[in-house]
Amino acid sequence: MHTLDIIHAKRLGSAHTEAEIGFLVDGYVAGRIPDYQMSAWLMAVLWRGLTDAETFALTGAMVDSGETLDLSSLPGPCLDKHSTGGVGDKTTLAVVPILASAGVQMPKMSGRGLGHTGGTLDKLEAVGARVSFTVDEILAQVKEVGACICAQTETLVPADRKLYALRDATDTVESLPLIAASILSKKIAGGCPAIVLDVKVGGGAFMKTLSDARALAEMMIAIGKARGRAMAAVLSDMDAPLGCAIGNRLEVREVAALLADTPDADPRLRSLVLTLAGASFLLTGKAATLDTGRAFAQMQIESGAAADKLRQIITAQVGDAALLDAPPNASVVREVRAERGGFVSGIDAEAIGRAAMRLGAGRETKEQTIDPEAGIMLGRVVGDTVAAGDVLAALYTERVGSAEAEASAILSCFTLTDIAPDPCPILLETIGLDT
Ligand code: URA
Repeated sequence: MHTLDIIHAKRLGSAHTEAEIGFLVDGYVAGRIPDYQMSAWLMAVLWRGLTDAETFALTGAMVDSGETLDLSSLPGPCLDKHSTGGVGDKTTLAVVPILASAGVQMPKMSGRGLGHTGGTLDKLEAVGARVSFTVDEILAQVKEVGACICAQTETLVPADRKLYALRDATDTVESLPLIAASILSKKIAGGCPAIVLDVKVGGGAFMKTLSDARALAEMMIAIGKARGRAMAAVLSDMDAPLGCAIGNRLEVREVAALLADTPDADPRLRSLVLTLAGASFLLTGKAATLDTGRAFAQMQIESGAAADKLRQIITAQVGDAALLDAPPNASVVREVRAERGGFVSGIDAEAIGRAAMRLGAGRETKEQTIDPEAGIMLGRVVGDTVAAGDVLAALYTERVGSAEAEASAILSCFTLTDIAPDPCPILLETIGLDT
């Protein structure tokens, strides 16, 4: 087999055999195939696509490049979830404790934020939690508290680490089969028999249209099912930020308040969290329907079990659970007020995410460090009425020099109109949850 022949075949749009894909992935991970040839292949895939069979083979070869977690020593049902990421997306931190408090175990490997989107690991680190674990440590913590939220271990799917860095550097990230194989290879290697996908749609998300999001979700579900996993997907809106907090410690506190059943928790965030948890209960046999799963999730919140579990997980990971109750603490707090009255008919998620990043809540390059307290709290969300002078948002930062510029950037993220906007549902579609 020759690498050049495989690249040439894809350039012409031909399909590869499973053996050819294995040859490419193994050769690249072992260093026999150089970056420039793999880049050429990735670009050909971006233009020509992969068949379902090729995508399954790519996922399999990526899984086989490393270790697979053996969860057979865990006593209860196990489930994994994945979100394609967005602005203010803190659902993992809410869903994991809800499930773990009801006996669904979650060895949950998560990622960091880059650019305008946040990452679960950065949020956990913002309350001092440790996120680097070995496989044995993950299993030990899941046995003890029911969940572990941590970084991908070095030993799982090394092919994805290498390929993702190359895709990032060669503008070949945005290929549905490459995204699906990248995400699902990590989920399959994570070992859970059931996987719930939260696929975001809209301006603040990877997938800008419902049809692209649906295609990605269907592709990931097909891959998971082909590997014997129980799969479901929830497609949710990411035109506006999720919840009111954007920024790491602010978001963890919003989750703690939601799990404490605070009545003023953002209804869109609550609805998505209950749906994801409900879908997870359905997939693991703890509920017969999505509705009963949602009700079960609400019970875990009302009983206080989910809030306790969040604290247990943070404490087990050597974080400081007292930070969940502390008020925001930044040198600069700047309110952004409405210049006119009306209805909030839109909040630009991507632009808000970028403003939060510039305030210190995110990183533009992988090397930058994050300020755990920096971020934005929305005072109004889409659909709210507003009077001139009302607080639309408050920003928190240590970057004294950038607060004024960011305040005006945040103001322009809000679209205020005289007419009430159409309702902006958070849940767009579910796949694989019919009972
Ligand atoms: N997230 C991943 O893990 N992989 C991709 O390719 C895109 C998003």
